[in-house]
Amino acid sequence: MVESQHGLQQPRHTHLGNVTAIKFTRAVALSHSLIFSRHPAIDLQARCRDHVPRVTNIQGILFLPRRTGAGIVIAAAAVAIVASTAAAQSIPRTLTMDSASAAALARRPHRERPDTIRAFPIHKLGDGVYAVLGDTGRGSEGRSNAGFVVTQGGVVVIDALASPAQGKALLRTIRTVTKLPIKWLILTHHHPDHHFGAIVFKRAGATIIAHPDRRTLASEDGDDAMVSAWTGVLGLREMQGFAFADTPNVPITHDTTLVLGGRTFEIQVPGTAHTPGDLVIWIPDARVVFAGDLLIEDGVAMVVDGSSGGLLRGLDRIEALHPAQAMPGHGRIPSDPIALIRETRCQTLTLRALMRRDVQEGVSMSRALASLPPADRDRPVSRNSRVRRNAVRVYAEMEQELVHSSGVADAAKDSVAMLSCREE
Ligand SMILES: [Zn+2]
Repeated sequence: MVESQHGLQQPRHTHLGNVTAIKFTRAVALSHSLIFSRHPAIDLQARCRDHVPRVTNIQGILFLPRRTGAGIVIAAAAVAIVASTAAAQSIPRTLTMDSASAAALARRPHRERPDTIRAFPIHKLGDGVYAVLGDTGRGSEGRSNAGFVVTQGGVVVIDALASPAQGKALLRTIRTVTKLPIKWLILTHHHPDHHFGAIVFKRAGATIIAHPDRRTLASEDGDDAMVSAWTGVLGLREMQGFAFADTPNVPITHDTTLVLGGRTFEIQVPGTAHTPGDLVIWIPDARVVFAGDLLIEDGVAMVVDGSSGGLLRGLDRIEALHPAQAMPGHGRIPSDPIALIRETRCQTLTLRALMRRDVQEGVSMSRALASLPPADRDRPVSRNSRVRRNAVRVYAEMEQELVHSSGVADAAKDSVAMLSCREE
């Protein structure tokens, strides 16, 4: 457990776009957070949040507790030294998580502080069904959306946001509507920006409902590395009290209908689409679907952790529900859910067609990518960056398609589906 790891360890580098930042090990980043968070007198200032992502060749980072009202200063410093041999000792990595959106969040000049805001804006989607609105107009870079459903037996929360601080703000938001107990938390997938606030709901007594496949690129180096990277992005303040809570009490591995508090939830398992652990939540009596990151407000869903073919199949299933309301993982609620589903499908089909043609013509991946707009510097999940990173994935998929017998059928199916895109 984190609590037992109090020693400083060698920091590592994390590449955030073109910027090199110090990556703390969990022992550095979290143990101090956890230790100090137990001292009510200490308000840990996470200097790294503001400075690290911008600076290269940091020689050390100091965490300074603020002077308390009683005048007591409890000094605690964690200095992480980048050894001159850092190149040999550190492990350069690429922070490829979709959820690196929070990196952009963290750089906003006037970033909101979830630990200080009372409640997030909400929008009623149907009887007892509420959307908790994240940022709009920022695609995947904005704070993610969440939701909750009030049933006779308690509250069903859908996604938990990106940190314990955001989870607490989400809980306060729910409390503006109902005092009923928080009984269940359903996670749409296992990206940090959707579940790192889950511990708040687990501690409140929620049963966790999720796909058991927690694998993402963000976690491929292990949970510790993911937490330390994420802490470097959001800052210790937001992460205080963190513990993982996305391992399901109720694992969902195939389509499942749950009756929670007397209300029916149809949980679709689309297969690997945005991630291997995707769930789509359909509330039939309200005709509302929570699509997770299979839908993003600008129609560019990421498949870096998933599969473009799987995404297309998932979108088909969502469209077949004929939802009155569709909640995307990020961004505004579409006035026409079917239009957003189709836009997402067409974006995906277009990229597949481009990459398929290039693969078939023997065009190298780098040349294929050169035909796309450049990724945005330091914005790993900006629209252009998403398209470009998706292209890498889709190019590889098309290479696979070329050697599989199903490839011709897949290409034909795409062509038929593309017809509706050209009509629009
Ligand atoms: Zn995601």
